[in-house]
Amino acid sequence: MVPSNRNWLPPYCDPSAFLPEVQEIHMVFREAPFLFRDFVGKAMSFLDSSRAESMGFVHDRARTLPCKWKCSDESVFGVDLCLYAYTGQYPFDKGKIGGRFNEAAVAAAVHHAPINVDFGGAHVGYQPGPGGGRFGRIPRPLHEHSMSTDCGALMALAAPFKTLYDEACQSIQVFCPPGTRGVVSIPNEFIQPSWSTHHIKLLVDLEALTVGVVPYEASLPHTHKVAGRSLFRLHPRFVDAQAGPELGPWPAPIGTALTAEYFNIFDTAAEIGKDGVPKERVLPYMKYILAGRDAPAALKIAVVSTNLEHNSLTDCLRTEQYRPYSFACFTGVFIDVYDDELGAYVNMFQPLGLNIKPSGRTRDIELAPAEIREMFSELEPAEPALPIDAVMGHARPRRVLESFTFEPGRYQEG
Ligand SMILES: [Zn+2]
Repeated sequence: MVPSNRNWLPPYCDPSAFLPEVQEIHMVFREAPFLFRDFVGKAMSFLDSSRAESMGFVHDRARTLPCKWKCSDESVFGVDLCLYAYTGQYPFDKGKIGGRFNEAAVAAAVHHAPINVDFGGAHVGYQPGPGGGRFGRIPRPLHEHSMSTDCGALMALAAPFKTLYDEACQSIQVFCPPGTRGVVSIPNEFIQPSWSTHHIKLLVDLEALTVGVVPYEASLPHTHKVAGRSLFRLHPRFVDAQAGPELGPWPAPIGTALTAEYFNIFDTAAEIGKDGVPKERVLPYMKYILAGRDAPAALKIAVVSTNLEHNSLTDCLRTEQYRPYSFACFTGVFIDVYDDELGAYVNMFQPLGLNIKPSGRTRDIELAPAEIREMFSELEPAEPALPIDAVMGHARPRRVLESFTFEPGRYQEG
């Protein structure tokens, strides 16, 4: 019989339950990001274009409030300066720490102006380097240029899950003793939640990874158990997988072959809403954030979180109370780099979506990243309302875009 330990999972981790999809790294990073200041220039041209007008959006600048929703981190303050330079208006803040969207701010913003143009998303630090560069940390010049996490809030959220996942990758062992089709030795804390006192639990999905226990036989050394571990026969799907490790005769760490289909991870202390979903909506996606090979966790959590916040934003502006107002919402991930030449933080922007909601309606028009790029490719950037180099305190960065060498699957850890 194939054992199952799914009965110990919280309902939102049920592997048979459908989890709403978020955008794939391969789709989002098909092309390199924009410099944020270039993106805003093109966005302003687009809003003034006949194409925006055909979508029902009238960009009356005298009645338009630029808005931002992003983390309060000073590494993304260039976003504020850039919006100020392009519009001549101080941007209204619809954000919270971690790059969360603050729904409560929308009512105030439309009280100030009937047309809102929003730019928002999570942010992530990037250190250029060979091999695709590193994500999740940035120099802090005010701390003698020591490195620190960026976005600190999202990295702190993911950190205990990542530590536990990395431990599991090292301590779960796979091997192929003669006469078997593969065996996995699993510490019991990764099988049943009560074997660990930590509030974050990682459980191997026995139904997915195994096809039954290895029975004890005195004459077969590989069946002799180690205290605190259980032995199972590996599922043929794992053994046959191209990505799986070469199975030798002796136990070796499963490593990154522990992909999302083979485990679940959850926080027993997480606050759960009445609908059974954690209030921290990133949590159901955590195993995909940790175990994806297309991007490091720091970048993935920024993309996932921005998807979820964008959902809150669009849900909010479709409500009846905002029918009289117009919105143009540019959502994406801010990628922060410290530019030594300028002595300043520079922000790139990878667009994830654009929503246009004209006044008098409750439904909006949604545009995907490829559509945004296609529209922008035909547009010259608008002229800033104020001298942008003076407002930002530096000239347009020369090296940042070419130093971004990440591609899906090509990056350095840590
Ligand atoms: Zn942050």
